[in-house]
Amino acid sequence: MEDFVSWQYSKLGIFTVKSSYHLEWDHQHGRKLRRTATHDTSNSPIWKILWSLNVPAKIKIHCWRSLLGAIPCFGVLANRNMQNFSQCPICQVDCESIGHVFFKCQRAKQIWEHLGLAPAIAAACDLESEGVVALGSLLLQPQEKAPMLPDVLRNDLIATAIWAKKKGSVGIERHGWQKSKEDFVKLNVDAAYDVDTRGGGTCAIIREDRGFFVAAAKCQFQFVEDAATAEAIALQDGLALVESVGCN
Ligand SMILES: [Zn+2]
Repeated sequence: MEDFVSWQYSKLGIFTVKSSYHLEWDHQHGRKLRRTATHDTSNSPIWKILWSLNVPAKIKIHCWRSLLGAIPCFGVLANRNMQNFSQCPICQVDCESIGHVFFKCQRAKQIWEHLGLAPAIAAACDLESEGVVALGSLLLQPQEKAPMLPDVLRNDLIATAIWAKKKGSVGIERHGWQKSKEDFVKLNVDAAYDVDTRGGGTCAIIREDRGFFVAAAKCQFQFVEDAATAEAIALQDGLALVESVGCN
């Protein structure tokens, strides 16, 4: 067999941006995560500890997503080319990373201060610069009574505070659909964008003031520069749909 050039980090040996991204992510974060065992799903005690916390399932699921770095804060979205800016919308001082949202933002610090957990948080963040890793190391510490709430266990409180921060601080908040004013129609648009292929699609839907369907459209696009341009195309397609059904 003749020698050939191969990229060992993808299954087919072909270079892809996605595989290089995963490689860089692992280089920057994976080793640290493995070191504290927060990401080793087979052996880490963190998952057993997490699922045994005395908090509602939605809080455990949020913490589980946080430990996997799957929180849509601006820093994470910008890193994945899904957002053009990464600055924290609350303090506008730093990048809105997971660590910033949960621990380093001024608002987060105030909450930890009120809960009497500021020293523990500061110690975890001093030890681990990555927010995900700091959260893992906090939850790996033995359960004890919370400093200011003796009826509450410390790790339950940390998990609940992390979940509470989901509201208002994390980049994307989902809002339910709201009706338009009487005698008006409402247009909703969205775009799906794949940064590797630079392609994707848009969809648009028009509903009248009681929420009943009026019209919908979908389109595909190629060779689009970024996610913001894809959103702009979605809006353009939506306005074309509005015009085609005789609304203005
Ligand atoms: Zn901030």
